[in-house]
Amino acid sequence: MPYMACTVDELTPSKPALRVLIAAPRGFCAGVDRAIQIVELALERFGAPVYVRHEIVHNRFVVDRLKQLGAVFVDELDEVPDDRPVVFSAHGVPKSVPAAAQDRALTYVDATCPLVSKVHRQAERLIADGRHILFIGHAGHPEVIGTFGQVPAGAMTLVETVDDVARLEVADPANLAFLTQTTLSVDDTALVVAALQTRFPAIRAPRSEDICYATSNRQAAVKAIAPECDRVLVIGAPNSSNSLRLAEVAERMGAPARLIERAADIDWEWLGTPATVGLTAGASAPELLVREVVDALRRRFAVTEEQADHNPERMVFKLPRELVA
Ligand code: SF4
Repeated sequence: MPYMACTVDELTPSKPALRVLIAAPRGFCAGVDRAIQIVELALERFGAPVYVRHEIVHNRFVVDRLKQLGAVFVDELDEVPDDRPVVFSAHGVPKSVPAAAQDRALTYVDATCPLVSKVHRQAERLIADGRHILFIGHAGHPEVIGTFGQVPAGAMTLVETVDDVARLEVADPANLAFLTQTTLSVDDTALVVAALQTRFPAIRAPRSEDICYATSNRQAAVKAIAPECDRVLVIGAPNSSNSLRLAEVAERMGAPARLIERAADIDWEWLGTPATVGLTAGASAPELLVREVVDALRRRFAVTEEQADHNPERMVFKLPRELVA
């Protein structure tokens, strides 16, 4: 595959040579970028403190920076004072959350990624159509909790694996539909969908793919570099679904991979003295952390840095009107 501009460290005899192959695209997606901008704009508009329900995106570095600017992160709405604004995270929230904010006359801004909102609207339409939804996702993930909260209790069933499909008990197999979380493994999801379609041939599929462009592109980018890598480092939080999937994808391509939050997490013993290390970052990890990891590698190796060539992503989401008007 083609690679772009490379830089080579001074070849110091004491440092072993290391090629660092950086995946592209990587890092921030349009939904994360928008969510962070929403908190920043809310701080400008309303002044500090601005409350944020849950981590705005799954990245400690991002969250800590916003805390320094005056954001206060809380688990639940009842921790927000009546006179302060609150932002809902990019993962989406159950309908009960904005409803509770309205009941208290709180000022709130919804930073749910538009691609997650699209799944919410699909779920509503399917329920209105009388379908039972089989939702492919990971139990306990905030996006799953938010999507289940768009429909009445019992109207949606969670499916995590192909084995779950075999165990499903449904009342009306002719009246099913499926939807998916946006940040799943493209390959695993295809297997679960195939199992659903084999067991329930009449199941309705979403009109377009629910796994988002950012998740798919980052997984494809790791697939492209992994065969050339002895090790792959994925920058992302342990609770970031799309980052975890990147490490899985690399491993399946035969490259041992580790998820790290920052350079300080690199396990140097595990890394050893490889010829080529692949590097990527989940959709909620800033580029600054990629540079931090490259710098850490440079301190121990004579690094040759290569950027994978790719078509840049051009997705941009509009900001909420109340913050830009
Ligand atoms: S990973 Fe995808 S769904 Fe999640 S915030 Fe980014 S663009 Fe939106």
